[in-house]
Amino acid sequence: MPRTLQGNTGEWELVIGMEVHAQVSSNAKLFSGAATAFGAEPNTQVSLVDAAMPGMLPVINGYCVEQAVRTGLGLKAQINLRSVFDRKNYFYPDLPQGYQISQFTQPVVGKGEVAIEVDGEERRIGITRLHLEQDAGKSVHDMAPDATFVDLNRSGVALMEIVSEPDIRSPEEAGAYLTKLRAILRYLGTCDGNMEEGSMRADVNVSVRRPGEGYGTRCEIKNVNSIRFVQQAIMYEAQRQIDLIESGGKVVQETRLFDANKGETRSMRSKEEAHDYRYFPDPDLLPLELDAAWVEKIKAGLPELPDEKAKRFQDALGLTADIAGQLVAEREIADYFEQVAKSRDAKIAANWVTGELFRYLNDKGLAIGKSPVSASALGGLIDLIADGTVSNRLAKDVFDEMAASGKDAATVVDEKGLRQISDTGAIEAAVDQAIAQGAKQVEQYRGGNEKILGWFVGQVMKATGGKANPATVNEILRKKLSG
Ligand code: ADP
Ligand code: MG
Repeated sequence: MPRTLQGNTGEWELVIGMEVHAQVSSNAKLFSGAATAFGAEPNTQVSLVDAAMPGMLPVINGYCVEQAVRTGLGLKAQINLRSVFDRKNYFYPDLPQGYQISQFTQPVVGKGEVAIEVDGEERRIGITRLHLEQDAGKSVHDMAPDATFVDLNRSGVALMEIVSEPDIRSPEEAGAYLTKLRAILRYLGTCDGNMEEGSMRADVNVSVRRPGEGYGTRCEIKNVNSIRFVQQAIMYEAQRQIDLIESGGKVVQETRLFDANKGETRSMRSKEEAHDYRYFPDPDLLPLELDAAWVEKIKAGLPELPDEKAKRFQDALGLTADIAGQLVAEREIADYFEQVAKSRDAKIAANWVTGELFRYLNDKGLAIGKSPVSASALGGLIDLIADGTVSNRLAKDVFDEMAASGKDAATVVDEKGLRQISDTGAIEAAVDQAIAQGAKQVEQYRGGNEKILGWFVGQVMKATGGKANPATVNEILRKKLSG
């Protein structure tokens, strides 16, 4: 995917900014004690506050505020010690209050950044702000042909809206941004990042311009729910805008929908029809005042995040940037790797995790948490290679058998008779036999053809079922052939 698109009249640059809604991982809602579990029976997790019964008052959930602050710190952002909840007024059947409680001019989190890497180039995507707001309920249209139902389970669930600067320049960068943001949220545990269940959704703003010129008019594609769809939507939308401008038209600022079946975006409402939300501070809620010492304490308790972890893996363990990046993509992978690497050679451990283990997990479509080979079992295999019990070559077979049977490395090696032969007596016998059978090859070797040694190694390996220790074989061969 290119960073500029070629039109009929020259090059175009893409400009993309994203508004991500991330559901706070919290058992209770933002302003009520109702539960938030995914997939519950409709309208079973609705308090009187969420149903907007007259006279009910919202009470801020301190846990959700803490998660927003932790997320802000994870995005290296400014934490605003004073922020304000506003009412965003609009009518919709699944919004019983007639307004959404959100934050507008004074959000809890201000400017931050997310580092991404695409094609070996590091870029920093600015974060404009993060604010807390309530989710709305859900209108269900597909249960009966002539009726719409309202499910208020989501009504009042805490969302963090994370707004980026228009710093993203390609679909690949958009994918990298969402991937990194999701990793940070998951490391922090503030949002599970599950896009299929809707706990992370993206509004994608796209415009095009001639390289070096100012920003063009943007369109906003609402509620895209997978990274692949975000990339498809950007490509489609950018091409649509380029075609429009090149044929003499003008992009109008509007909200569009992405149709995943057709792979295209469609107009939903234009800016002229856009709501005037009449934001004003919610009189039922006091401004949110945070204590600087409390924020500092949260900061001190943050876990190591992906970028820092990748840097440590490179600096302290000598891993390449590429391997380190693969290992920190998910917290579970990093934890698994660190357990394998503990008191072992880190590069060997990293090669096994990103090599054989990833190949196996990819093949089977498994997450690392479901790996049949545990970190300690893989460590056991690496130990058997290190002490010469099993050869590097056969270790891959041992690994496959471990994965298939769930047995540990030592058991597999014994049961399958894969123990490496380092006993010089047995190897010498096989070497003698090879020399006896290869008079011609012996002559060639003694005539200076070093390469022919491979033939002897092959013979010895065949005779020992591939189990002879290669270093020992080489050593004995050279000695006997030159003797
Ligand atoms: P609104 O509040 O109307 O949605 P904002 O100015 O807050 O508008 O911007 C919303 C999102 O649109 C942000 O992520 C921002 O980066 C992005 N954005 C703003 N201008 C452009 C543009 N010209 N092209 C692409 N994205 C843009
Ligand atoms: Mg917007």
